[in-house]
Order: sequence, then C-alpha cells, then structure tokens
Amino acid sequence: MTVPNIELNDGNAIPQLGFGVFKVDPDRTEELVLEALKVGYRHIDTAAIYGNEEGVGRAIANSGIPREELFITTKLWNDRQTDAAAALDESLEKLGLDYVDLYLVHWPCPENDTYVEAWKQLIGLKKAGKAKSIGVSNFELEHLEKLETHTEETPVVNQVELHPYLQRWRELDAFRAHKVQIEAWGPLGQGKTDLFELPEITEPAEKYGVSPAQVIIRWHLQNGVIVFPKSENPERLAQNFDVFGFALDESEMAAITDLDLGEEGRGGTHPKEMNY
Ligand code: NAD
Repeated sequence: MTVPNIELNDGNAIPQLGFGVFKVDPDRTEELVLEALKVGYRHIDTAAIYGNEEGVGRAIANSGIPREELFITTKLWNDRQTDAAAALDESLEKLGLDYVDLYLVHWPCPENDTYVEAWKQLIGLKKAGKAKSIGVSNFELEHLEKLETHTEETPVVNQVELHPYLQRWRELDAFRAHKVQIEAWGPLGQGKTDLFELPEITEPAEKYGVSPAQVIIRWHLQNGVIVFPKSENPERLAQNFDVFGFALDESEMAAITDLDLGEEGRGGTHPKEMNY
C-alpha cells in the first residue's frame, strides 16, 4: 500500500495518512507505534502535551526504519510560546531525534498574544535545521493573517478539528488559498459521536466491504486532507491504514459532506476559548 504524499509550501512533502497518539498511555505508546510502523505507517503525530514523546522515540529507535523514511510531527505547548527553542530541544531529547519533520504551534491562545513571537521562534528553529517544516494548529484565518503581516513565512499546515459533523470548508479553502495544507484532528469524531451508525457512512461501508471508520478516512483523503486517526486496537489500527483499495463516488462524497452541523458539530474547544 502506498500512501500518497502531499506537497508543502516549503518544498517538503508529508505522507497524507499517519498515526496520531493523543491520549495514548505513555506505557503503551512504544508498543502501539511499533505496531503502526509494522503495518506500514511512516507518519506519526504527537505533541509535548501528550506526554508520550519518549514512547514514540523508543519505537522509532527499535523499529530499524531509516530516519529519512519517517515523518515525525510534534507540537509546542501553550505555556512555552516565548520559549520555543528550549521546548523543542526537550521534545527532541525525548524523541531521541536531531530534528522533527514538522513542528506546530499547538494553539494560538489569542488572549496571551504571544503566537506571533512563537512563530518567529519556529522560523529560527527551521533555519537551525531542528524542524524541517513548521506549521500551526487550531488557527483561525485572522491568526494566520497576523503571522503573514509580521513575518515572511507562511505555515505549511493548519491542524484543525475536522470530521463530517464539523467541516468549515469556506474557511479551510481560504487557508488553502494561502498555500496552507489542512490536517484533520479528531477525524473520526474522536469516537464520541454516532457517525459510525449513520446510513451515509454505513451504506458505502457495506457496499465496499469496509468499516464505517474506513469510509470516513477515505472521505478525508479524497478531500485532499492530511489525516492521522488514532486507535489503540491493533486490528483497527491496521484497518485504518487499509483505505486505498476502494474509492467513494461523487454522490457518496456529497452525502457525507451534507452531514455538516457547523459550529454545533464541534466536539473540542473553540480556538478562541483556549487560552491556557
Ligand atoms: P480520532 O477521531 O482519530 O478518534 C479516535 C477514536 O476513534 C478511537 O479512540 C476509537 O474510539 C475510534 N476508532 C478509531 N479507529 C476506529 C475503527 N477502525 N473502528 C471503530 N472505531 C475507531 O481522534 P483523535 O485521536 O483525537 O485525533 C487523531 C489525532 O489528531 C490525535 O491522535 C492527535 O495526534 C491529533 N489531535 C490533535 C489535536 C490538536 O489540538 N492539534 C487535538 C486532538 C487530536
């Protein structure tokens, strides 16, 4: 199975499908990431705040996979926005790496008003070779525009909550117009919704002989979105990677797009309300 690459605005490329480790217990992280690497995943999404970078690092070290074949993302937590160089050094130490492929400002925290400073520091970290690419997460358009006003560098991605119940295409297309690729977090609704039971999802699942989760992942991929579903179950983790043997047709794609609930579909915190 070959995962397509998406080209980033700095010339680097990211595997479109990866494995996310939010809420994966630090004690199980090594085992699960090793399992994911065995299945074929090469893109891992972690963050300093997840507390499991060491487990990701042990899995990388024990996998025997050459570093250049892996794409590792981690994120700068909110209380380190004015201290990003030291924060990335700590993450690199835990990951056992000299560089990450992608370093993200985790949330803008607009009330703190330090995200432009954080972004300037990330630009320095990219120049120093400690992050091959830099991007943001949970940014609204106004936050992106502020970065562009104050610096010369545009983030390569914006990682946002995105699933059939929360889509915001108008805003996401505006990011794409700025050459910012979209990464989906909570792509399956974090397993907290009834998405897996809706006919718009179960009917194509039955037709193609796949699971509802595979249909949703396929919908993201066909929308050109970068996606890294999380599962702590080895069978599901393998299933989530097995999404290149079928394709949704136009009407099946449209039916899922019609499930959008707008703001009501948001399961996590609104970026404007996260300030700690
Ligand atoms: P997700 O949408 O990937 O949902 C994961 C849950 O879906 C699992 O715990 C399980 O309950 C269910 N699931 C997964 N595969 C399944 C399958 N095949 N069949 C049935 N159920 C299945 O949620 P997530 O983990 O929150 O998001 C994915 C990744 O996004 C995270 O691991 C993390 O890397 C990233 N993330 C980033 C932010 C951010 O603020 N930047 C926030 C949350 C998550």
